[in-house]
Amino acid sequence: MDERNKLAVIGDPISHSLSPLLHNTMARELNLPYDYTARRVTVEQLPDWIHTVRQEGWSGFNATMPHKLHLLDLVDEKTPEAVYFGAINTVRNDNGRLIGHNTDGDGFANMLAEHGLTFRDAHVTVLGAGGAAGAIIRKAVRDGAAAVTVCNRTVEKTQSLCMEHPDVLHAATLDAPLPEDTNLLINTIPIEGSVGGDVLVNLRRDCAVIDILYAPPKTPLLLAAEERGMLAVNGVGMLIHQATLAFAFFTGVSFDQLEMARLLYKTTCNLTKSGVVSS
Ligand code: NAP
Repeated sequence: MDERNKLAVIGDPISHSLSPLLHNTMARELNLPYDYTARRVTVEQLPDWIHTVRQEGWSGFNATMPHKLHLLDLVDEKTPEAVYFGAINTVRNDNGRLIGHNTDGDGFANMLAEHGLTFRDAHVTVLGAGGAAGAIIRKAVRDGAAAVTVCNRTVEKTQSLCMEHPDVLHAATLDAPLPEDTNLLINTIPIEGSVGGDVLVNLRRDCAVIDILYAPPKTPLLLAAEERGMLAVNGVGMLIHQATLAFAFFTGVSFDQLEMARLLYKTTCNLTKSGVVSS
């Protein structure tokens, strides 16, 4: 019988997930007996999955689309991060008690720090107002951004998000020019939304451009930013940093997050170049 502690990522779809590679690499590196797999779980199957986790004594799991909001009603306890971000991407099983947590916001900020960037006093523009944008925007507010402009296709979604912190958050549409004083431009709109270099026209060259997508590793937006001499960063760092924080939460083991992230960049380098990956 396999005595290793069981971890998983659940989602639908999930087949191209990079999380098993990231977490199994960390377990190996830290010499910890964990085995991490990917499980396709639909929304309808989520209550059964929760039952399985308790019955079979799984150590915990990560969750990606479409489960991050549904889990808020299914765990026994939420960490302050899960409450603040209003979504759960990490669940730890403490002897049958399921603790829901969120590492997306802090993972994003750790990725920023790696590039010498911070939300503090920044003028941030975010394209999109879905689940990932929500975590990034709330983290920007918590970390002291001066202003965050949220541009989205569905205006009602933008407005309800911006009502959370009307002093900092400003709603805008996708067709209006972006604020010229933007220091950090963050795209969260999937590739089908075709965000291209035209959005950069009135931005300064010292504005950093972050696209949380990583398949392809250089989106049309990032290619255009590079051409204009702007710092261009893709979503691999966010994925890696949320994973290192989640692994520390699962295991209770503290380790050098930056050092581990460096190892994971090397491990994923060839796969992300091929372009067919997801969280
Ligand atoms: P989501 O909750 O479905 O939100 C998607 C957002 O994109 C919404 O604001 C949506 O606008 C907008 N959008 C979608 N299609 C569009 C189109 N054709 N034109 C204009 N706007 C469009 O998804 P999510 O969880 O935020 O994820 C967004 C992307 O980020 C995904 O590609 C995901 O793989 C990636 N992601 C990366 C990481 C990472 O670690 N790097 C983490 C999470 C997510 P409406 O509100 O109008 O529908």
